[in-house]
Amino acid sequence: STRESALLESVPTGLLIDGVWRDASAGDTFAVIDPATGRELARVADATPADAVAALDAAAAAADDWAATAPRVRGEILRRAFDLATEHREDLALLMTVEMGKSLAEARGEVTYGAEFLRWFSEEAVRISGRYGTNPEGTGTTIVSHRPVGPCLLITPWNFPLAMATRKIAPALAAGCTVVLKPAELTPLTSLYFAALLIEAGVPAGVVNVVTTTDSSGVASAVMADDRLRKVSFTGSTPVGKILLKQAADNVLRTSMELGGNAPFLVFDDADVDAAVAGAMLAKFRNIGEACTAANRFFVQRGVADEFAEKLTAKVRELAVGRGTDEGVSIGPLINDAAVAKNAELVDDAVSRGAAVATGGAAVDGPGTFFQPTVLTGITPGTRLLREEIFGPVAAISTFETEEEGVRLANDTEFGLVSYAFTRDLARGHRLITSLRSGMLGLNTGVVSNASAPFGGVKSSGLGREGGAEGIHEYLDTTYTLLPAS
Ligand code: ADP
Repeated sequence: STRESALLESVPTGLLIDGVWRDASAGDTFAVIDPATGRELARVADATPADAVAALDAAAAAADDWAATAPRVRGEILRRAFDLATEHREDLALLMTVEMGKSLAEARGEVTYGAEFLRWFSEEAVRISGRYGTNPEGTGTTIVSHRPVGPCLLITPWNFPLAMATRKIAPALAAGCTVVLKPAELTPLTSLYFAALLIEAGVPAGVVNVVTTTDSSGVASAVMADDRLRKVSFTGSTPVGKILLKQAADNVLRTSMELGGNAPFLVFDDADVDAAVAGAMLAKFRNIGEACTAANRFFVQRGVADEFAEKLTAKVRELAVGRGTDEGVSIGPLINDAAVAKNAELVDDAVSRGAAVATGGAAVDGPGTFFQPTVLTGITPGTRLLREEIFGPVAAISTFETEEEGVRLANDTEFGLVSYAFTRDLARGHRLITSLRSGMLGLNTGVVSNASAPFGGVKSSGLGREGGAEGIHEYLDTTYTLLPAS
């Protein structure tokens, strides 16, 4: 549409280094593709490792001034960024829909959620406090305070192009850190547009730098090998997170790692089944299933298993598949061909091991990389999707008999990001808070993400927390001073 082309024309396509938009030093660009059509949307600068080090130069040069900027001033810049993101909500939403695929309604929801990190951390910037006290021996006074860790490398994925950027940039800036953002190469446009809003909000040159690149490993390695960098915050797959943790060891960098998930979704006999189905629709089909918080394994207690599967299947059959800009669409395309192939492979594996297809089950013919919203029942032990993240619109249901068995199945994974459980028994709900081994629990709800809460996982799902009162501490070092008693 003309609105779409005008918007695409307005997105900066260079690297943001030291407050200036530049071409990549080698002059290279790469294409951004609309997964719903396969068409090229724009071309953006393809940074070399040397460009990324230039971005770190800018972040390092700006670090002291930004750290010394009054917390209220930092907070007010973030607050203006919140206002601007809210004001430009339709543009940000449309960009996410065309470069990532999610429906416009969900993209608007992401603007609300993503912008909230800017508002939340604008408020946290002025609440960084320490401690003052007498030591146990009575011989000295201890003063505990915090200071920004220094320049940070922020690496974000393609599935939430705005929120994953704001969730890192906002706490970093609130804490007084400068950053180099490396957005996912599949969805750079949202970050570039948002970076322009940050400049408009008053973020000084060098405080936020953005390098888009197809050489993510070269760029990350070059920046992380430079000892001016003090922190890396990453959201993405567990294998890449492990590579970055190893690289971070060389300069003993602070790290935050939001990695893969394999969320269990438990429905007990005493659950409100309609509420569980509504929660399942969100936990599984929101964002086309392409979320690290997506329900990956449904475990339903025997007594309600048939009812849950039938009601879920009926709802899934109502989901409209199409380009996210089309009216009424809720399931857009998967991000690329590889994602479609992976979903197809996991469904075929499940079926070959005895699962039944209640609805969907296959890719949709192109153009565009679509996969049918799918419900599988009768998943058997050993099925690959019990171990692997599906990252697509495929709900896989197994049954269990007792709470103990349900919990054991839920915890039988190397991951531990989020669990979902539906029960009307308060005592059972209380037990699940301790028995489910994940960083987050949705108890009778299918969505847990909120800027005011600490988002993050245990085990192979990562390290550190984003959001909440905890979020800012990922970007602060703790220092302690001892004074002798006078
Ligand atoms: P996903 O499955 O979401 O694409 P990835 O972990 O591959 O997950 O990608 C998440 C982010 O990590 C993207 O910005 C991507 O460019 C970046 N990335 C991928 N490989 C590396 C690497 N070796 N070093 C640094 N960043 C990487």
